[in-house]
Amino acid sequence: MLDDAGLQALREAARLSPGNLPLRQHLAGQLLAMGYLGEAEAEYRAALVLAPKDAGIMAGLAEAFVRQSAYGAALAALEPLLASPGYPPKVGVLAARALLGEGDTARAGYRYHEAVSRDPSVADADLAARLSAPPAPPYGAPAPPAGHAYAAPASASAPTPVDGATAEVERSRLNFADVAGMEAVKESLRVKLLLPIQQPDLFAAYGKRAGGGVLLYGPPGAGKTHLARAAAGELGASFVNVGLADILDMYIGSSERNLRATFELARRNRPCVLFFDEVDALAARRSDMRQAHTRQLVNQFLAELDGVDQNANEGVLVLAATNAPWYVDVAFRRPGRLDQPVFVPPPDPAARAAILRLLCRDKPLAEMDFDAVARVTDHFVGADLKGVVDRAVEVKLQQSISAGRPIPLSTPDLLAAAQSVRPTAVREWMATARNYVMHSNDSGAWDELLPWVKAKW
Ligand code: ADP
Repeated sequence: MLDDAGLQALREAARLSPGNLPLRQHLAGQLLAMGYLGEAEAEYRAALVLAPKDAGIMAGLAEAFVRQSAYGAALAALEPLLASPGYPPKVGVLAARALLGEGDTARAGYRYHEAVSRDPSVADADLAARLSAPPAPPYGAPAPPAGHAYAAPASASAPTPVDGATAEVERSRLNFADVAGMEAVKESLRVKLLLPIQQPDLFAAYGKRAGGGVLLYGPPGAGKTHLARAAAGELGASFVNVGLADILDMYIGSSERNLRATFELARRNRPCVLFFDEVDALAARRSDMRQAHTRQLVNQFLAELDGVDQNANEGVLVLAATNAPWYVDVAFRRPGRLDQPVFVPPPDPAARAAILRLLCRDKPLAEMDFDAVARVTDHFVGADLKGVVDRAVEVKLQQSISAGRPIPLSTPDLLAAAQSVRPTAVREWMATARNYVMHSNDSGAWDELLPWVKAKW
């Protein structure tokens, strides 16, 4: 280490050449080593202006923060480093110290043990003692019973919560029998998601494993959320429905943290269907973004999909839905990510009749001609049909109250309600889709849409 005179000479040299990055970095490191923490912080900040992406500088700044007990600032400085899967183990230890300082022992434990497992030389006995017992495994499913890929979901037991995750763990009561029509879509999800879990041995024989993701796309209201929830029920998996409000946060770094906590929630409750609605807002093309921190979120999302190791996401099935798949960054289509696009089309007349039948199944009914209602509800999607049934039921309820007895719902009721409900914008959606399919389909990604957009809407 330098003596005071040496340090003074170094300060002087840096003052004379403020643009000399290696010199400033060296000075910052010396200041940190000698415990001049405030000055070290200032030097690292200045160096960061010269080299905003330098991992060594970010880590140095974070250490200066940790040692001044500015844990939140340290985590914010570490955020970009932690977002890339192979971050240096030393950075993991630093993050553990900051997280522990913030009182988040569970995540601190995870960071620490993950770092030491990659590089034992970064172990810190003092920190390990403060973390006391090793925490619950971070991606902590219990060991699966022999011969089965997953522990059976604990249907009766309470979900395992995760600090910082606002999405809730549900037990879906729906299954594919509750999804009318959509036979091709259900079959495709069965092969992609359910069979690998129901028949793990067969898939293992071909070197395939369960996990990975599916991108459900199509016009709004066509039933993507409904389908995802039913897939979870069909599988007996937990269901986590993630909306934008669960992730997006105005403070830099917080959205990434929310995303990480949400994945953690799914991993702790596996087998789990993790459903992201409006995923285009979280996974938008990075080339379209002007804000660096929005790109960070996309990078974080990719890193979470990849997992820290190949087992991290085992039993976590990511389903994501979007009305605008062309805005999703192509990096999401790589293997193991949202690599399986599935089009959820607007229902044809037979599917509309099936949806109506299903939506009316627990209501008092007269003899119904659902096909007749299906014929007059061209361009209606599932959500619109639900609106029709809700409207008809409301009217019927009024009449029943006036009459003092229940009056069953009839076909004319539905036909009248259909007149008063405006279908959502399938036609406009098809027009937009046509644009993309005709003009930006070089990779063939939207081939599945071709027959749809060529049809008359
Ligand atoms: P999206 O996620 O595509 O915008 P939703 O899944 O929210 O659409 O659909 C809205 C509602 O429409 C659902 O809650 C469900 O009641 C109904 N619905 C949509 N598709 C179907 C279907 N195939 N079978 C039964 N109900 C459906």
